[in-house]
Amino acid sequence: MNSDGIDMIKSEKSIALVTGANRGIGLEICRQLSEKQFRVVLTSRNEQKGREAVNKIQTCHSSIEFHQLDVTDPDSVSRAARFIEQEFGRLDLLINNAAIHYDTWQQAANADMATVEEALDTNLLGPWRVCRGFLPLLKESGSARIVNVSSESGSLSGMGGGTPAYGVSKAALNAVTIKLAAELRGSGILVNAVCPGWVRTEMGGSAAPRSVAQGAQSVIWAATLPDDGPTGGFFRDGKRLPW
Ligand code: NAP
Repeated sequence: MNSDGIDMIKSEKSIALVTGANRGIGLEICRQLSEKQFRVVLTSRNEQKGREAVNKIQTCHSSIEFHQLDVTDPDSVSRAARFIEQEFGRLDLLINNAAIHYDTWQQAANADMATVEEALDTNLLGPWRVCRGFLPLLKESGSARIVNVSSESGSLSGMGGGTPAYGVSKAALNAVTIKLAAELRGSGILVNAVCPGWVRTEMGGSAAPRSVAQGAQSVIWAATLPDDGPTGGFFRDGKRLPW
């Protein structure tokens, strides 16, 4: 088959990119998307970890490839966007999953501000930067989805003390979700925030009640919404959460 034929086959599948996907919920999201016949670009900040992750979940039926993406590095975001543009010319699904610092060890009153800055850079500015970088490609899709993996810790209505860097970063990520969804209404791009629940990962710890499969399913729901599905919402398991 000539290269045009190969390109045609490539473009028949929806193209998905997932950040922070070398482990945890992100890795499982890639596995589940691949089962749903997406062509998946698994990204991680560390190249070796990312390639090892692809090898873990690649099967003879899946099409998963790796590209480096550190959400705190604008050049890395630009390089990943250029790769998607050259390879596919569009992006159908962006899942902003990468996050750090579930800071159970501190309070707002005594928070280490360097930790707060790192959390904001990764959990808030990271997804925002990635959305900006990939928007031209998402617009080429005609029917794209952005899913910002958030947390009920970012829900203002239920917010108490503790986990200050993480909670504030996710509340602000929810705000960016509302802004982008409003600005992109009518463009065919649906933008939602999703909480995966409390999940057994390095971040969630071993006491969490949910498996990565359950956490990822909550995210996949928003990734596979129909064209008339909701935008600008906050969900877990397909049900609305209070902001
Ligand atoms: P995790 O196991 O700690 O994985 C986090 C992932 O983010 C890792 O792959 C990590 O890469 C990556 N990452 C960190 N900084 C990055 C950067 N600058 N650029 C690119 N990737 C980066 O966490 P998880 O539990 O799977 O969480 C996934 C998402 O679910 C997060 O948004 C989290 O806030 C959310 N969430 C989780 C829970 C839970 O109970 N687990 C609950 C609510 C929400 P490295 O391996 O290089 O560090």
